[in-house]
Amino acid sequence: HISVVLFTSDLRVHDHPPLRAAVSGADAVVPLFVRDRAIADLGDAGPNREAFLADCLADLDRRLRELGGRLVVRAGDLVEQVLSVVESADADEVHMAAGVSRYAHARERRLREALERDGRRLYVHDAVVTAVAPGAVTPANSDHFAVFTPYFRRWTAEGVRAVLAAPRTVRVPDHVRSHPYPSREDMDGLSPGLPEGGESAGRALWKAWLRDGIDQYTENHDDLAGDATSRLSPHLHFGTLSCAELVHGARRRASGGAEDFVRQLCWRDFHHQVLAARPRAAAADYRTRGDRWRTGRSADADIRAWQDGATGYPVVDAAMRQLRHEGWMHNRGRLLTASFLTKTLYIDWRIGARHFQRLLVDGDLANNQLNWQWAAGTGTDSRPNRVLNPVLQGKRYDPDGTYVRRWVPELAGLRGAAVHEPWKLPKAARAEYDYPQPIVDLSEGLRRFRRARGFFE
Ligand code: FAD
Repeated sequence: HISVVLFTSDLRVHDHPPLRAAVSGADAVVPLFVRDRAIADLGDAGPNREAFLADCLADLDRRLRELGGRLVVRAGDLVEQVLSVVESADADEVHMAAGVSRYAHARERRLREALERDGRRLYVHDAVVTAVAPGAVTPANSDHFAVFTPYFRRWTAEGVRAVLAAPRTVRVPDHVRSHPYPSREDMDGLSPGLPEGGESAGRALWKAWLRDGIDQYTENHDDLAGDATSRLSPHLHFGTLSCAELVHGARRRASGGAEDFVRQLCWRDFHHQVLAARPRAAAADYRTRGDRWRTGRSADADIRAWQDGATGYPVVDAAMRQLRHEGWMHNRGRLLTASFLTKTLYIDWRIGARHFQRLLVDGDLANNQLNWQWAAGTGTDSRPNRVLNPVLQGKRYDPDGTYVRRWVPELAGLRGAAVHEPWKLPKAARAEYDYPQPIVDLSEGLRRFRRARGFFE
C-alpha cells in the first residue's frame, strides 16, 4: 500500500516520526509539502521566511533524492491538494505532525474528515515539532502550565522520546506530479543578511554549535556584541532540526552551558503548550491587565521611530536595525525593544509582534506572540510590571558599546560606553552626530506606565 507524508513545520529526514512510520509500513510513499493558500492569505509570512522556506524545500528534495525519493510540492487549498495527491498515488493513508495553533487543529480536522469520507486514514504524530508533546505534562488542576519553572521540572522528569535515524530508502511512485518550487530569486524585500535555510545548513550549524559554542553559553548568551547564542531558531521553527534531537545531543555534553541551552529549548516547548491549550492567546492577552494602550498621532510617530531604529536610545535602535538587516535579533535585544515599546512607550504589544512577525526568519506564532506578552506583562511573566531601562541594559549587555557601533554607524565615533548616552555630550560635540534626540524621557515613560497600570512606587 501507499502512504503520503505531509510535511509542515518539520522539513527534515532525520528524527521524523511520520516519515519513519510511513516508510516502514508501505510499499511506497509520497513526501508532500503544500504551500497552503490559507497561510499565505494570513499575510504574515514576510519574504524572509518565504526565502528560508524555499531553501528548506530544495534541500529536503535533495536529501530525499539521496534516499531514492523526491519531494512533491503543491500550492493551493491544503485539503484539496492532499486529496489530489492521495488519489493520483492511490494512497490509503496520510501521516503528519501534530500542530499547536488553532489553524493547525482546524487543518487536521478538515483533513481527517475529507480522508475518512473516502475510506482513507490520517495519522497525526506527537512530539515532532516540540520535544515533549503539548498536554503530555500538566499540573493537577489545569490543562497546561502557566508558570515556567514547575513546567521545566516536570518536562525534565518526563524525558524526551528517543531519536529516530533517517530512513534508508524512500520509494516514491513516478507519476505523482509536483508544482514548481518557490525560489529565493523570485522574492523582493529580503533582509540582506538572511541565513541559509534547509536541513543540511541546520545540521552544519548544530555541529559547529556543539563544537564551539554550547559549553560557553551560560557566560556569553547575554553578550549582545559577542553574538554567542546558537542562531538555531529558524531551523527549529521550520523543523529542519528536531528539538528532541537537540535536547539529547546537548545533554550528552554535561556542561553548565549545555544545561542552560536545554532550558531555553524547554521555553520553546512551554510556549507551544500554552498556545495549544489557549489558542486565543495568539491574538488576545493571555492574562488581561486592562491596558488602554496609547493610540493616535503621537503614538503612531513613536511606533515609526521604534520600527526604523530612530528612537534616540542607541541600544534599542541597534537591535531594531539588526532585525531589519538580518531578519533576526538577539534575545536580549528582543526583550529590551519589546519592553521599550510596550512599557516605556505604552503601545499595544500586538503592534510590535506584527512588526517582528513580518521580519523575523524564526517568526513563530507560539514563541513570538507569547514572548511579546511575557515582555508586555500581559502573559506568563511573574513580574509583569518590571520595566527595562534601555540605558542600563545597554551598559550591562553591551558594556563597551561594540554592538551599538556595529548597527548605528552614525555613532561609530563615540568610544566605549559613552555611545549609550549621546545626549550627555557637550552641545557642540553632540551636533556632530546625525542621530536623533530621545523620543521619550525615561522617567516620564515610567510614570505613564505606572499610572496606567494603577500603581505608584
Ligand atoms: P538560543 O539562545 O541559542 O536558544 C536556543 C533555542 O531555544 C532557540 O533557537 C529557541 O528555539 C529556544 N528559545 C530560546 N529562548 C526562547 C524563548 N524566550 N522562548 C521560546 N523559545 C526560546 N523565538 C522564536 O523562535 N521565534 C519568535 O518569533 C520569537 N519571538 C520573540 C519575541 C520576543 C519579544 C522575545 C522577547 C523573544 C522571542 N523569541 C522568539 C525567543 C528568543 O528571543 C529566540 O528564540 C532566540 O533569540 C533565538 O536565537 P537563538 O536560536 O540563537 O537562541
